[in-house]
Amino acid sequence: MDKVVKSDAEWRAQLSDLAYEVTRHHGTERAGSHEGFPKVPGTYHCICCDAPLFDQDTKFESYCGWPSFTSAKEDGPVGYTEDTRYNMRRTEVHCTRCDAHLGHVFPDGPPPTGLRYCINGVALRFVPE
Ligand SMILES: [Zn+2]
Repeated sequence: MDKVVKSDAEWRAQLSDLAYEVTRHHGTERAGSHEGFPKVPGTYHCICCDAPLFDQDTKFESYCGWPSFTSAKEDGPVGYTEDTRYNMRRTEVHCTRCDAHLGHVFPDGPPPTGLRYCINGVALRFVPE
């Protein structure tokens, strides 16, 4: 998948203020602020570059206030960095195609992976099957 590189001004023009803040400046949407996604089969794409990142069938209700998944798409361009901001050791999740910040992954999820990808809703675009 080709890398997507745009200027700050281009991202700002393309994205909503909140999506821009979250994806390009490592922001976090307010817990419970995202209105949710349709519960029909489909795929979650990167709001910035449209790469497919998560499948609907890995989404689960975590009640943490953000869309949550047990795994990223197997062939999706999802990358990880260690995030030590705010005196916490967390694993940051981003789109490797365009470097959009997506959220974090925590080791307290349900089977089969035991992982909880805690992802900002504004960083995703749902595409029904
Ligand atoms: Zn992307």
